[in-house]
Amino acid sequence: MKIELITIFPDFFRGPLDYGIVRRAQEMNLLQVAVHDLRQFTHDRHKTVDDRPFGGGEGMVLKPEPLFECLEALQVASREERLAAASRESVVLLSAQGRPFDQSIAAELSGLDRLLLICGRYEGVDERVASHLADRELSIGDYVLSGGELGAAVILDAVTRLLPGALGNEASARQESFSVASTNASSLPIAAESAIESKGAPPPDSTCTSGGLLDYPHYTRPANFRGMAVPDALLSGNHDEIRRWRRRQALEKTLRHRPDLLAKISLSQEDKEILSRIAEEQTPSVKRN
Ligand code: SAH
Repeated sequence: MKIELITIFPDFFRGPLDYGIVRRAQEMNLLQVAVHDLRQFTHDRHKTVDDRPFGGGEGMVLKPEPLFECLEALQVASREERLAAASRESVVLLSAQGRPFDQSIAAELSGLDRLLLICGRYEGVDERVASHLADRELSIGDYVLSGGELGAAVILDAVTRLLPGALGNEASARQESFSVASTNASSLPIAAESAIESKGAPPPDSTCTSGGLLDYPHYTRPANFRGMAVPDALLSGNHDEIRRWRRRQALEKTLRHRPDLLAKISLSQEDKEILSRIAEEQTPSVKRN
């Protein structure tokens, strides 16, 4: 997969591209990254990329011409071609007004051959870029950043983890927070995929697929650190007990931090039983209040 970043600060990406999985994915040739300096697509002596807003108001706006010329120079398929269902190329504008980026969008983007990420700056980008140049606007959260670069780095990282082979262990992506089997099933071995689909249950080992929940807690050695002990269940060696403990923890944490996620997924009978046990256990403390 090729990811291309369009920015007025190309050096910004030195750090985010140079470490860990993103670096390894490039070394393994699973990912190619190109950073394009928007100022190279200007024609004046000052390499002007911004201008004052029509209608007045604070700040400056990124001009449309350099962005349109940049995509033309990069020979990106036309917007009509890209929006056709089978297209493997997409242009995304980073924007606080965009659709919220999440794991399912990451999975969708990881299936592309080519992804271009346009980073805004100043008060934002001339709206004709959103309406006529980009395929979609994505936001990385409900807050305003000073530029799209951090958002582009976030998307690049989340997408890279989902490229087959990038994690070194295909199961990891499946059990991680938010992962719903169907969204990244294309990166799973067929046997694992059909096991999930047909039984709707996790494979018979001590891990459990997140199935759209938050991940379960992880522990490593020492088993007792400054009096803080690793939960007994994890030391039991009993795979089914470990899996059930992990599932309960994932359900509990999701209930506590992200109840909205529970409403979105289909729960197994076992999940429902665990949740009603959690509710029963919580009832006495509610009464005390
Ligand atoms: N005036 C705009 C904010 C502009 S911030 C507004 O109120 O919506 C400048 C640039 O930072 C934007 O063009 C966008 O590319 C980027 N940006 C800011 N917040 C972002 C977010 N939450 N997600 C993705 N990109 C963001």
